[in-house]
Amino acid sequence: MCGIVSYIGKKDPVPILIKGLRRLEYRGYDSAGLALLDGKSLNSVKKAGKVSELSDELSVSPIKGNCGIAHTRWATHGVPNDINAHPHLDKSGKIALVHNGIIENYDSIKKTLEKRGVVFSSDTDSEVLVQLISEIYHNDEGQLDFKDAVKAALQEVVGAYGIVAMCSDEPDSLFAARMGSPLVLGVGDNEFLFASDASPIIEYTRNVIYLDDGEFVEVKNSAYSISNIHTEEIVSKTITKIDLTIEEIEKGEFPHFMLKEIHDQKHSISDTLRGRLNLEDGTSMLGGINDYLPNILEASRIYITACGTSWHAGLIGKHLIEEYARVPVHVEYASEFRYRNAIIDANTILIAISQSGETADTLAAIKKSKELGALTLGICNVVGSSISRETDAGIFTHAGPEIGVASTKAFTAQVTVLIMLALKIGRKKGVSLHRGKELISSLKEIDTNVSKTLETIKLVRQVAKATCNADNYLYLGRGVNFPVALEGALKLKEISYIHAEGYPAAEMKHGPIALIDKDMPVVFLAPQDETFLKILSNIEEVKARGGIIITVTDEENDSLNSLSDYVLVTPKSHRYIFPITSSIILQLLAYELAQFRGCEIDQPRNLAKSVTVE
Ligand code: GLU
Repeated sequence: MCGIVSYIGKKDPVPILIKGLRRLEYRGYDSAGLALLDGKSLNSVKKAGKVSELSDELSVSPIKGNCGIAHTRWATHGVPNDINAHPHLDKSGKIALVHNGIIENYDSIKKTLEKRGVVFSSDTDSEVLVQLISEIYHNDEGQLDFKDAVKAALQEVVGAYGIVAMCSDEPDSLFAARMGSPLVLGVGDNEFLFASDASPIIEYTRNVIYLDDGEFVEVKNSAYSISNIHTEEIVSKTITKIDLTIEEIEKGEFPHFMLKEIHDQKHSISDTLRGRLNLEDGTSMLGGINDYLPNILEASRIYITACGTSWHAGLIGKHLIEEYARVPVHVEYASEFRYRNAIIDANTILIAISQSGETADTLAAIKKSKELGALTLGICNVVGSSISRETDAGIFTHAGPEIGVASTKAFTAQVTVLIMLALKIGRKKGVSLHRGKELISSLKEIDTNVSKTLETIKLVRQVAKATCNADNYLYLGRGVNFPVALEGALKLKEISYIHAEGYPAAEMKHGPIALIDKDMPVVFLAPQDETFLKILSNIEEVKARGGIIITVTDEENDSLNSLSDYVLVTPKSHRYIFPITSSIILQLLAYELAQFRGCEIDQPRNLAKSVTVE
């Protein structure tokens, strides 16, 4: 969370920084700020609210400079207001810093500094770091230069950070460091950018360096050097060429990124599948994990760890892997898993799922599992991300950049990868060619089926219109579709602020049935599979209590039609394709409900994407 961008070069930094902040706004949008060095003077502007507020302020009171740092915030410590917005300046007004992460020992450092007379202006943990740098820099009787002061301060902090700092005594320099929060260096022609991801950089250069934990960068006089934070040791890094296009990170004709990304699924799932399906052998080809296949086949247990939507994909993955590969799979919230004494050894495989590849808890769960001897596999969307580099091997989802805070196409891509992974292992373990071919053939038809699914939009809109004043929504499914119910409920909470619960359909009578009345919409995931008649009974139970019944199925049927208030139909396909197509309907439903309620769809309150803090 939090987006950082900074620029040093010959151009005016302000438009570059503002555009960069807009690109990073998915990471946080409660306040924003920018500081520029103009020769020896440091000027900053900070505003509560979105980047547009900052931009408006800058057009009324412009500031100038030759290099600058900027930040869009998702508050962890201190309310979102002008003062707590970044950049933070030290007491001398010479040093400015932007920070993504949490300084966990900020309180004790703050108390020590206060005893020495430092007066803090904000409530943030981040200000502690800039005041500490200042204290070290100004109190060393000229022994340390600014770079060493920053490094010395970083030795004292505990927690996670991606930082960029500048100092008016070093007018042609930027200093950056990373420990736990992502940071990318863009290396242009006599110009350099730092950013939380590559999107603010691509207009200026395609050459980037993904920084790793413990690395410190100094950019000075048109050159950069990377060293270890703790030592003088120089680190040599390779430059990566990025192939992201501007179109991919803009919303085009769509009113919201979320709607664009829902529609992207017409091709994003086949982008995930591209070059990976082998119909003849009824299997998938996942080059990223080939070297580790023997270990995967030997594994006695698999953990899938993730957060939020990715955790729901993991639950679907459990069904798939247990069905095809016949290995026990445990799905764990990364934030819980990292702190518990789970049974992890050399026979364990950890599969970590994260869209951004930067999720702090998931990254920590990987590190812990590696230490205990597990083989770690990543399923990520962002190439070059921390998780893709930290895991032993992995599979990219290739869904394209996902900018809407509510995840859509990344989720269906994750499920697609899990289908391929389960089949790959399963075929090696004796799943028949016929079953393999059946699944691969269905995957090959996915684009058509997604396009047909998106045609339900008119009916979805009617459902949304009729139910947009509901205070609660219930989502029910069985088996592999129970996680789809959870995901549908999460999507609704995230962007429409309607309270929603996902439940296994039969569990409803152990509690949630008490909530059902004429004002309660209940979404049933009711494909025509072996659970259909059971689901039909559950629908009867809700009907008997007056609930509003919205059924998502893959085949209409008289009983369903007569019991349901609305029936939304996806094309009939393989039973493991239904979780993909039905979740697209639930994404549309959440989107339409949020529209009718006038919610801020791409930037829902309190949320941000890419959760880089614990
Ligand atoms: N902890 C810092 C703050 O609250 C940065 C937050 C973040 O990176 O999400 O301002």
